[in-house]
Amino acid sequence: MIVDERMVTYIHSLETPESPLIEQIEQEALDTYVPIIRKETQSFLKVLLMMKKPVRVLEVGTAIGFSALLMCEYLPENGHITTIEKYEKRIPIARENFKRAGKEDRITLIEGDALEVMRSLEGPFDFIFMDAAKGQYIHYMPEAIRLLSKDGVLMSDNVLQDGDIIESRFAVERRNRTIHSRMRKYLYELKHNDQLQTSIIPLGDGVALSVKKTMTVEDKGELQNEE
Ligand code: SAH
Ligand code: MG
Repeated sequence: MIVDERMVTYIHSLETPESPLIEQIEQEALDTYVPIIRKETQSFLKVLLMMKKPVRVLEVGTAIGFSALLMCEYLPENGHITTIEKYEKRIPIARENFKRAGKEDRITLIEGDALEVMRSLEGPFDFIFMDAAKGQYIHYMPEAIRLLSKDGVLMSDNVLQDGDIIESRFAVERRNRTIHSRMRKYLYELKHNDQLQTSIIPLGDGVALSVKKTMTVEDKGELQNEE
């Protein structure tokens, strides 16, 4: 845990419940070890959505649809979510959950590998929730930037690897080393990419919040000159 456990417990104690169905789906996910967005990250996401009011949302990593259903509660009336999942066992459960909540027409689930699906999508999306395989974020990044509208927001979850990110590569378990170095690269890129403004927040398992800059005519000219 990145943040002091008692602090997290205290913050959780202040949360108010969602609708019974959403609470139930969250419990079903936890009971079956499906990795879903943490409580404290949920409340941050809700506030962001209410501030940004995105009409088109892209989620990378549906799992069983918990975060998509949660987001749906906080979108404007005409808001729509496109969500991507490749794990065959989770896809029918997610579809069933969207049906249970009566949200089939507000959430479109696309089956397949996130990178391939992202490449096939057309933007712009006002908000992207990146929550799939951590080692792949760096590969999704160019597509995420392409798909974002100007002033679009990219929220990436689980970026601090439960604190492992600050350890040296050799202190990290061997099987986590590739993810470790790729995640460091991703965070570096998010902070140094000319098109993004990013804040890395030690919330939950680590959140990176980025906004796509509106490029001026001069910026575009410079980019072209570099090519
Ligand atoms: N957003 C969900 C949790 C997602 S867990 C919630 O908070 O409720 C991450 C999901 O990403 C897993 O279900 C996993 O199967 C999926 N995933 C991992 N790699 C993927 C890929 N390359 N393409 C599509 N989905 C992927
Ligand atoms: Mg996650």
